[in-house]
Amino acid sequence: MATATETAPVSRPQIRRTQLLIDGRWCDSVSGETFATYHPATEEKIADVAQANAEDVDRAVKAARRAFDEGPWHDMDARDRGALMLKLADLIEQNAEELAALETLDNGKPISDAKAADVPLVIDCLRYYAGWADKIKGDTVPIRGNYFCYTRREPLGVVGQIIPWNFPALMVAWKWGPALAAGCTIVMKPAEQTPLSCLRMADLALEAGIPPGVINVVPGYGETGAALVAHPDVDKIAFTGSTEVGQIIMRDAAQTLKRVTLELGGKSPNVVFADCDMDAAVAGAEFGLFFNQGQCCCAGSRVFVEDSIHQEFVERLVDRAKGRQLGDPFSPATGQGPQVDKDQFEKIMNYIERGKEAGADCKTGGGRWGEKGFFVEPTVFDNVSDDMDIATDEIFGPVMSVLPFSEFDEVVERSNKTLYGLAAAVWTRDVAKAHRLAAQVKAGTVWVNCYDVFDAAAPFGGFKMSGIGRELGEASLSNYTELKTVTMSLD
Ligand code: NAP
Ligand code: MG
Repeated sequence: MATATETAPVSRPQIRRTQLLIDGRWCDSVSGETFATYHPATEEKIADVAQANAEDVDRAVKAARRAFDEGPWHDMDARDRGALMLKLADLIEQNAEELAALETLDNGKPISDAKAADVPLVIDCLRYYAGWADKIKGDTVPIRGNYFCYTRREPLGVVGQIIPWNFPALMVAWKWGPALAAGCTIVMKPAEQTPLSCLRMADLALEAGIPPGVINVVPGYGETGAALVAHPDVDKIAFTGSTEVGQIIMRDAAQTLKRVTLELGGKSPNVVFADCDMDAAVAGAEFGLFFNQGQCCCAGSRVFVEDSIHQEFVERLVDRAKGRQLGDPFSPATGQGPQVDKDQFEKIMNYIERGKEAGADCKTGGGRWGEKGFFVEPTVFDNVSDDMDIATDEIFGPVMSVLPFSEFDEVVERSNKTLYGLAAAVWTRDVAKAHRLAAQVKAGTVWVNCYDVFDAAAPFGGFKMSGIGRELGEASLSNYTELKTVTMSLD
């Protein structure tokens, strides 16, 4: 049985940082402007945060440039850089409770998720990349003639990083980890809805001894991100967010031929065959869609279920959806919190209406939960057809579409009938069938008999309009390095 302290709501964290971080100093924006951030469960304002404009972005880029060109980052021994990253990971671990509570306050996610998933993954990611810092190396290349030819992997330079609000701290770690390991310097723009954990992590980076100018943080809206994309002295943009903004960034980055990596949206198929372990598949379908209030780029939002088990599967899924505990995200018992803001809430409610109008069968949910906060009832639509908006568009909320199927080839074709290609999953006891589907589905990640298994070592990213490039793993390091070929005459 849970003790009283395990069930009592976690207390709200202190907000320590709300300014810009430029060149190791906390400062207001040049304009003096701020923007408000809110707690999505109560809709109350929690802080005013300094809002960076193009001039602030320019100051931050100059600081990052200096730290890169003149040192100390560029000149630092790679092993020492790795040690500083380990120190940052240790400090985050020491302040894990505070960071988890900041995520819950700013984003609305349940405190139990923030503690068990977000923060441990942040720490793990930074430690993983700290280990890479002194292992990035080139090759010797046998070429024709009397030459010694070798390659060097050099840090790319100043990188602009623009992140979303769904996993605020984790997105920081996915971006900082490989960039710091490679020896780049950073100007980061957190999402306007959730700047607080990023600012606190930047504070801890300074405390860890990461030198001034290596990490700069410029909170703001889309224009702040656009200023970073337009800046001629930024060498690369790493972006996570919507496909629409990804397209704008790619177009705008063409002006200066910046390197661009994009981690964008998805409409991932979760394919359930009749020969699956039904308990595991039902639980996996629930987790794959409803985790993080459905605000996951890889959410398993199209659940394809084989005809012969369709009815039983939907009944069991609906029971689980009804059993989800919504409420105060600071309560450890809460399994589902509010959506991040009013815009997202309204977008989701609009999709639910469109699903109903199109004739999909709303088995459970479909409405707002409670009177305060941006809560949406866990919603399951059955008998969804491929061309309905709820089956084609990224909803980014707790809305599942169930689509019955009968044949293997049919489900592969329908799974791939999307602009996206981020993730997919398959549930079956037939190993060959699982491998066949894994090979034929056009997605950057395929989970077999599991969902949302993430590890810092395993690459993640999209096919098609889900993005360009890979995050995590060794693959991400190539996003932050340039390859140089050196050829020396031996005559
Ligand atoms: P978004 O507009 O793509 O925002 C992502 C980030 O890009 C934010 O930091 C945003 O600033 C910034 N941004 C916006 N316009 C920009 C521009 N022109 N140049 C540079 N940066 C710019 O996403 P959203 O509006 O928060 O959410 C909309 C939809 O995107 C969601 O419903 C969901 O479908 C999708 N999404 C996907 C992911 C993912 O992980 N792939 C994450 C979040 C959302 P602001 O803070 O001002 O918006
Ligand atoms: Mg907020």
